[in-house]
Amino acid sequence: MRIALDFDKTYNIAPEFWDTFINISQESGHEVILATYRHKEYDWDPLLDNLDIPMYFTDGKAKKPFLEELGIVVDIWIDDNPYSITDDSAWLPDSPELHAWRVENQKRIDQEQMKRN
Ligand SMILES: [Mg+2]
Repeated sequence: MRIALDFDKTYNIAPEFWDTFINISQESGHEVILATYRHKEYDWDPLLDNLDIPMYFTDGKAKKPFLEELGIVVDIWIDDNPYSITDDSAWLPDSPELHAWRVENQKRIDQEQMKRN
């Protein structure tokens, strides 16, 4: 099976749990990929540094058609937002909502970085 795992409110809620899930899946001969609405450069998260699976950043595009265009067919989707599989994000690339989310996201990353140092 090819299993697509979402990042926000899925992987990032419980990275250790999902790392275990990924390992067990791979040991059983299944493939796990990351499929996220995020933009690869603008929305990079430090958690992604340690993730050694194929990652697909759709930049707000519906995930299923995005991957199928690349010839990637997913058997199982794991996603807190099932609509993201078939529908484009409601936040357009230049929308204030996306901008506000990016500002907040960067703040959170910076705070976590400061806690670690
Ligand atoms: Mg999500």
